Amino acid sequence: MDIRVGHGFDVHALADGLRLVLCGVEIEHTKGCVAHSDGDVAIHAICDSLLGALALGDIGKLFPDTDPQYKGIDSRKLLKHVVDTVNAKGYSISNIDCTIAMQRPKLRPHIDTMRERLAEVVGIDVDRISVKATTTERLGFEGREEGVSATAVTLLIKA
Ligand code: MG
Repeated sequence: MDIRVGHGFDVHALADGLRLVLCGVEIEHTKGCVAHSDGDVAIHAICDSLLGALALGDIGKLFPDTDPQYKGIDSRKLLKHVVDTVNAKGYSISNIDCTIAMQRPKLRPHIDTMRERLAEVVGIDVDRISVKATTTERLGFEGREEGVSATAVTLLIKA
């Protein structure tokens, strides 16, 4: 059996008055991610974990932020493209585990909606998708509310 593990990491700066979108869910907040896309830092980390598992580079390589076609794009479209690529190579996604580090707002009320949104795009059962949220105890750029970071780990199995 061919099993692959992949890891992803992403960071976006926060700025006042922008939309905050995490795992395809728009969250009410005073700040949002600065980005060429919709700034969905969690989906970007998940995309990189999937690409990493197959050594296919990263989303910056696939979807350059200099390309106008990706301006403001819904990151779920990027994820769908990455999932299609993984499936086309004969792999299925066993599970995804993502952690978002952000001081405010509290993400817990949104976690199950995030998991459901991701399951729709990835095409696996929601119980195979984990989204976790943590503060950094006011330490670092996340703690100072200057930015958001996300990590993701993915397991792929060749069918
Ligand atoms: Mg990003």
